[in-house]
Amino acid sequence: MKNVELETIVSLCKRRGFIYQGSEVYGGLSGTWDYGPLGVSLKRNIINLWWKMFVDARQDMYGVDAAILMNSQVWKASGHVDTFTDPLVECSNCHGRFREDKIDTNKCPTCGKASPFGPARQFNMMFKTNVGPVDDESSISYLRPETAQGIFTNFKNVVDCFYPDMPFGIAQVGKAFRNEISPRDFIFRSREFEQMEIEYFVHPDKWEEAFENWRQLVWQWVEALGLPKESVHELEVPETDRAHYSKRTIDFEFDFPIGRDELLGLAYRTDFDLSNIQNSSGKNMEYRPKDDSPSYVPHVIEPSFGLERAVMAVLCSAYQEDEVNGEKRSYLKLPYHLAPVRVAVSPLLKNKPELIDKAREVYEMLKTEFGNVMWDDNGNIGKRYRRQDEIGTPYCVVVDFETIEGDTTDTVTVRHRDTTKQERVSISDLKNYLAK
Ligand code: ATP
Repeated sequence: MKNVELETIVSLCKRRGFIYQGSEVYGGLSGTWDYGPLGVSLKRNIINLWWKMFVDARQDMYGVDAAILMNSQVWKASGHVDTFTDPLVECSNCHGRFREDKIDTNKCPTCGKASPFGPARQFNMMFKTNVGPVDDESSISYLRPETAQGIFTNFKNVVDCFYPDMPFGIAQVGKAFRNEISPRDFIFRSREFEQMEIEYFVHPDKWEEAFENWRQLVWQWVEALGLPKESVHELEVPETDRAHYSKRTIDFEFDFPIGRDELLGLAYRTDFDLSNIQNSSGKNMEYRPKDDSPSYVPHVIEPSFGLERAVMAVLCSAYQEDEVNGEKRSYLKLPYHLAPVRVAVSPLLKNKPELIDKAREVYEMLKTEFGNVMWDDNGNIGKRYRRQDEIGTPYCVVVDFETIEGDTTDTVTVRHRDTTKQERVSISDLKNYLAK
């Protein structure tokens, strides 16, 4: 991975309106991030791409959107109340708290004291809350630490309403919350984040085939995000490091500026969740095949995609620096389908009403067609190009004197982000040209 510093990305994100510290006006809230106009657009483009690829383009997928708050039985049955923990150690000197498996425990990372830690205790990462006005055991609920349980608890609903053939999957995109001991590295480890998850239900004998198939599909996703393949690595997670529900897990790691770390996970969850729901709710979770062969509790392959980590990987790999006319420039070489702004429209000069009127007309036409189109008449044209380059806008359309005079009337300059090349395109062809 080329050596972009995380700080460069963080500062670009703040300066240009992608991502801000959560609750910044009050000094922030650790582990939370707010998305500005460009960040929202980038996130939405990633979610839409995911949904299109894994739900709309397939015949075996169903979408759900389950409530974030769930009956606390869900988290008891799933094992999260007992085992969704990280090992917490506390420094005897500065009382800093750390995740034991993420630090060198010979020395406190904050105050530097040698051998400052006693034995680790298990810290449960779920945010606990109470539902309703009574604050007692019976009202306890949790903000979901994964979206998956909202899928499992709706398995029977989807089967009963749609009676899908096996194998099939249920997909969900939504927020998840984890009270991470040390949120860090920008959006990489947040306390509130978004997951895009699929639970893919298979006959128990067919899990290996499905697992392999999803492994290939994950690589297609990596490609669709525009990430260089050589920056993504599969890690076969050893049994001792796997989540409590998993019999096989591959972490797909990415070479982030902070080092190689998990981008997304692919897990074989067996029938762990559906069987636990069956045992604990008393409701039958078996699938009855249409050919009258014996019923069974399906096994599950789970590709789990973290949205924030996808955003961070996309931004880090898109960031480029080069030189244009002897000047250093930085730009985001985002895949066109992910760029927050598809095209920016400008009048060449700000003080020429005839240019402004024509540019407004072009802007409105493109805005109606594409939506994510920006009007930009701030500063001189060179500055506008730099600004649009920095946010990854693939095209700048400029209405200049040639647009309104001479034999090039009704053509505009289209300037390309990656090459900085310019060409003239007639206004009547512009929508087609930019739709490519
Ligand atoms: P890690 O080992 O980094 O804590 P994990 O193995 O616990 O992650 P999973 O439970 O497999 O993560 O969650 C699935 C995906 O959700 C991860 O691959 C990641 O993309 C995302 N994710 C998990 N925790 C966070 C977090 N705190 N902030 C942002 N994304 C997260």
